[in-house]
Amino acid sequence: MVFDLESFGGVFEKRPDLKVIFVMLILVINCGSSSIKYELFDMAKEKPVARGSVTRIGEMGSSLVFEAENKDRIDRKVVCPGHHRAVEFMRDVLMDPDAGILKDVSEVSGVGHRVVHGGEEFTSSILVDGEVIDGIRRFSELAPLHNPPALEGIRGCEQIFKNVPQVAVFDTAFHQTMPRKAFFYGLPYELYEKYGLRKYGFHGTSHRYVAGKAAEILGRSLSELNLITAHLGNGCSMAAVRGGKSVDTSMGFTPLEGLVMGTRCGDIDPAVVAYLMSKEMLGDGELSEILNKRSGLLGLSGISNDMRDILDARRRGEQRAVLAFDVFVHRVVKYAGAYSAVLKNVDAIVFTGGIGENVPEVRDSVEESLAGLLGKEARFLTVQTDEELLIARDTCKVVLEKQKTK
Ligand code: ADP
Repeated sequence: MVFDLESFGGVFEKRPDLKVIFVMLILVINCGSSSIKYELFDMAKEKPVARGSVTRIGEMGSSLVFEAENKDRIDRKVVCPGHHRAVEFMRDVLMDPDAGILKDVSEVSGVGHRVVHGGEEFTSSILVDGEVIDGIRRFSELAPLHNPPALEGIRGCEQIFKNVPQVAVFDTAFHQTMPRKAFFYGLPYELYEKYGLRKYGFHGTSHRYVAGKAAEILGRSLSELNLITAHLGNGCSMAAVRGGKSVDTSMGFTPLEGLVMGTRCGDIDPAVVAYLMSKEMLGDGELSEILNKRSGLLGLSGISNDMRDILDARRRGEQRAVLAFDVFVHRVVKYAGAYSAVLKNVDAIVFTGGIGENVPEVRDSVEESLAGLLGKEARFLTVQTDEELLIARDTCKVVLEKQKTK
């Protein structure tokens, strides 16, 4: 059977009969510093048929959770010193005679790995080979908490899922279409050359997914739309998307820039860094801890990084919760204003992420503040993000392309 790859996503809507003969299982893996989460997708239905995780890797009391369609759930403590072992656990539960779903690892057609940083080198999802591994390792310097565990996951899968193609899907790739004027900082040019100091942007898979969904909802082609996408979760970022391509985004060299987040500060005057270091006599680690872990909603409110707690406290009239909420919304509004200037006519603002999807107070406040700025036609949409599905689709596409060129 020959696939038209471009229309692959919609092929089963047009030809439901193909579903019967087409079985393709794609495993999507997201390796964090102390966890591995995965979903096994049946691509004919574009639905996960199993999912699981190993958390607290390398700590006391690692936990393993696994659940496959129509099977008993596994939830137990394990000893898991590293990611490689975690990948073995994943294989074992996927092939467990009672709770599992696979007879052999070769039933998986491809493994898609979420990789945070692909630098300037990786502009789309790619089949993993030695060069790709070298690239991911090179960009580990820019994402020291994220790229190394992803590499460990890839290495583990190469050994355990022998001969199954591995695909890397990068958080930064979607934003590689930003023009130079958007990604350069006003810093000495040599620093860009020497260290790659520039805006990269993150959450790319989510922005790309919700932009595509928004086009579906609006019943228009993505290529003719100007969208502002807002991924508001624990980490938060916005993007200006013209014709399906990112032209600006709020996160930068690292995910610290831009919006106010759960525990991250977002934009601040860079002079604050030197000032604080001298006043509080802080080392690099302590400063990074303040900016990344003790700021944002948590730092402002003194209550929590969780928007649900902020909303409760705000209802009770607690002033710092009111402040945290207002600063959060104000920053979203400012970026929406900036991106409407970048895009000119905005067709829609698309909210996603835990806060974007579930907190009407935030969406309504943003909408109210933007009244009159955007044209009357501009829509406010809420879309549930699904980064795993997009990783699965990309993996599927890369694997099919590989088969085609064989
Ligand atoms: P992550 O960025 O870690 O993937 P999420 O996208 O799940 O996180 O977003 C986490 C944020 O979303 C938290 O601030 C949480 O309070 C908020 N959130 C999630 N669900 C709800 C809900 N039902 N009501 C209000 N806030 C929610």
